[in-house]
Amino acid sequence: MKFGGTNMQSAHAIRHSASLAGRSVREGVKVVVVVSAMAGVTNGLLHLADAAQSGDIARANDEIAALRTRHFTAAQELGAAPDSETVRELRELHETLRQAVYGVYLLRELTPRSRDLIVAFGERLSAPLMSLALEQSGLRARHLTGGEAGILTDTNFGNARPLPGTYERVGDRLSGFLSAGVTPVIAGFMGETEQGAITTLGRGGTDFSATIVGKALGADEVWAWKDVDGVMSADPRVVGDASNIGVLSYGEVMELAYFGAKVLHPLAVTPLQDSGIPLRVKSAADPDFAGTLVRSQAEEIPGRPVKAVTAIKNVSLLTVTGAGVLGVPEVIASVFTAIARENITLLMVSQSSSMSNVSLAVPSADAARALQALRAGLSSELNVEETNGVAVLAIVGSGMRGQQGVSARLFTALASEDINILMISQGSSELNISVALSGEEVDRATAAVHAAFTLSQPVGA
Ligand code: ASP
Ligand code: MG
Repeated sequence: MKFGGTNMQSAHAIRHSASLAGRSVREGVKVVVVVSAMAGVTNGLLHLADAAQSGDIARANDEIAALRTRHFTAAQELGAAPDSETVRELRELHETLRQAVYGVYLLRELTPRSRDLIVAFGERLSAPLMSLALEQSGLRARHLTGGEAGILTDTNFGNARPLPGTYERVGDRLSGFLSAGVTPVIAGFMGETEQGAITTLGRGGTDFSATIVGKALGADEVWAWKDVDGVMSADPRVVGDASNIGVLSYGEVMELAYFGAKVLHPLAVTPLQDSGIPLRVKSAADPDFAGTLVRSQAEEIPGRPVKAVTAIKNVSLLTVTGAGVLGVPEVIASVFTAIARENITLLMVSQSSSMSNVSLAVPSADAARALQALRAGLSSELNVEETNGVAVLAIVGSGMRGQQGVSARLFTALASEDINILMISQGSSELNISVALSGEEVDRATAAVHAAFTLSQPVGA
């Protein structure tokens, strides 16, 4: 069971989360708990690390003090005595955090490696709070860092991936606790390199930690507790009448996560794919509601080829032009090589058939780097232009495979709202169709497309 930031945001929320885990333990289920940082703590840590790097140690220390208050208040409200093991441990962790941040300040250098060390304190500090809450409810619990739980990763700090040996290690380290009747509580989002340096798995990575553990133990199911009713047909802040999706395939949920749905880490389902372990996304506020079941098999619903519409905002388009030159395959190769070397995610790619231009959609945060890499990596006869303020909207659903008329419905919906399309792409998997459009129009576009595919109606209605 994974508990997200809002499920950990206060003593009250932590106690409720512990009761959800406890309920299953009392039913005889062996449960491993994986926790996120308290809501807002990860952003706070990133922020104070930047402050320290820029020389503003006073601000960094103020922010550490604010986080400290949150952790100590929660511990106290959960009933920890001032001389308890939990309080002692929180104090030690906060002291180490302070030292790490001071080191960044002295060096005025924040490497991806030191950023990971700092940001992982969010999860390391929430795990003892969860084990305290479980113990207070009468269970035996033991908290572990990601590394202690056996999660071994590569050295790609900030976006690390588990090494193959991880699964056996996690299985070995956790099964003893489980057979002794102890509920392990693992700090999510983090792992460790072979040298023992702390890494993180990318934002939202606690989902990924939970599925890694699920695979390692051959779990029956992985449950991701959230503050939403599972995966929705659109962002409910944008589309008021978005509905819950009952069943999604691993492929569908990956497309959704990739195209901006914040509900799961994009790689979270990858450890489950070969074993077929189901993942449930459930609402802590409504624990008896089924939420969304994510499994191998998609659910084919007649008349519902599209299951959800999502959007990524803050996108930039980079267009490479240069008549004649672009027809040479090597040139296309060097476009991709330049982007790959910078480790930039390509959200969409399109190439005109005359091969005289290639357009790439990238997150705006990476656009400057991408532009520089393209200019450095391509012949000077080629031109690279940048368009900012773009968004990518995607419709996702396995039912659009081999089904005519889906894109017509999408384009009609956009046309009737007078929305101009900048770029189009459909993967050959036919799980999604994505379009780039102006960022200012994307919310209106999302609502129109959601309505055109009648996604607010619950399935079967
Ligand atoms: N705390 C981390 C984040 O906010 C990881 C997570 O919540 O899954 O990204
Ligand atoms: Mg979070």
